[in-house]
Amino acid sequence: MDIKILENIKLSDYTTFKIGGLAKYFVVVKSEEELFATINWANKKDEKIFVLGGGSNLLFSDDGYDGLVIKNEIKGLEIVSENESEVIVRVYSGEIWSKLVYFTIENGLYGLENTFYIPGTVGASPIQNIGAYGTEIKDVFYNLKAVDIKTGEGRFFNLEDCNFSYRDSVFKKELKGKYFILWVEFKLSRSGKLNLNYPDVQRVLEERGIKEPSLRELTEIIREIRDSKLPNPAVLANAGSFFKNPIINPEHFKVLKEKFPDIKSFVDEQGFKIPAGWLIEQCGFKGKTFGPVGIYEKQALIIVNHGGAKQKDVLGLVENIKQEVKNRFDIDLEEEVNVL
Ligand SMILES: Cc1cc2nc3c(=O)[nH]c(=O)nc-3n(C[C@H](O)[C@H](O)[C@H](O)COP(=O)(O)OP(=O)(O)OC[C@H]3O[C@@H](n4cnc5c(N)ncnc54)[C@H](O)[C@@H]3O)c2cc1C
Repeated sequence: MDIKILENIKLSDYTTFKIGGLAKYFVVVKSEEELFATINWANKKDEKIFVLGGGSNLLFSDDGYDGLVIKNEIKGLEIVSENESEVIVRVYSGEIWSKLVYFTIENGLYGLENTFYIPGTVGASPIQNIGAYGTEIKDVFYNLKAVDIKTGEGRFFNLEDCNFSYRDSVFKKELKGKYFILWVEFKLSRSGKLNLNYPDVQRVLEERGIKEPSLRELTEIIREIRDSKLPNPAVLANAGSFFKNPIINPEHFKVLKEKFPDIKSFVDEQGFKIPAGWLIEQCGFKGKTFGPVGIYEKQALIIVNHGGAKQKDVLGLVENIKQEVKNRFDIDLEEEVNVL
């Protein structure tokens, strides 16, 4: 099996943040066979492996990656089982996420519609249990197959094995960097109920007098909301929300509510989730520029690269933000973006 291993490839060209030094080795894989040949090659040379999808949730080091970066382009989508009410779709990990969601909408399948337009690949979706507008993939996740990047052995993970929580999973914790996710299966419904609870979605529906939107109408609304709030990485380099929304306990929330009466929160089973963007905005960062980096003018959760930024520029700003938020609210912000 012929695989084309390249050397000294600029990682900044493969991430939406446009940051990162050289990968010592780099390969694009388009099939399972190429993946196994690549894993063999790396293990023989004792090179470590990093799996790259669309590069939309990454902040690479300016020193690059001292090993082999595998750019995943293994594609394919099939219905593996269906009945009157449900359909199980298997999607290979190199497929673009929005292409999958588009397929579900075209076929009248409910469950993923609120996640339309999240950038990146299907294979990365379980890593941080991607989510948007009140839906997370754990709500419709069924099963996945992953390949151990040391041994090449396959392993299946059901919902419980993945241990999903808010922007988190087993693949970000104890199994971090250990598996290549090959395909993911989702259980979708033929007659689902749309999740319209998210405040931004409700606002637009009310403004337009729409009571029962169709799948298509809802995804169009979500596209408009996203366009109005999030910078397009092709125009302004970024990696989406840099921080997770912190979750605090009721006592801490009570103290903050007295001090900051207009503090926002969403209550879920884990506690009071506070919008990190609001905290950062209160500290005065929104729209500010610090050399080549800055905070997006419409959403304080997003760090942008105005051009030529290095990892150290981003990390300097990150430290500054964390410190200010800690001082003002006694909250520790945690990165959502994977920093390497
Ligand atoms: C403008 C913008 C908006 C965004 N909005 C959202 C949002 O609404 N909700 C949300 O949840 N996220 C959002 N994100 C973050 C990002 O889209 C998701 O995290 C996405 O899943 C990343 O996919 P990717 O293919 O680009 O992964 P990459 O950035 O390439 O990789 C991310 C991590 O996943 C690992 N990985 C990737 N593929 C595999 C695989 N096949 N097997 C094993 N590990 C793998 C990588 O090693 C890395 O650790 C946004 C990002 C941007 C730039």
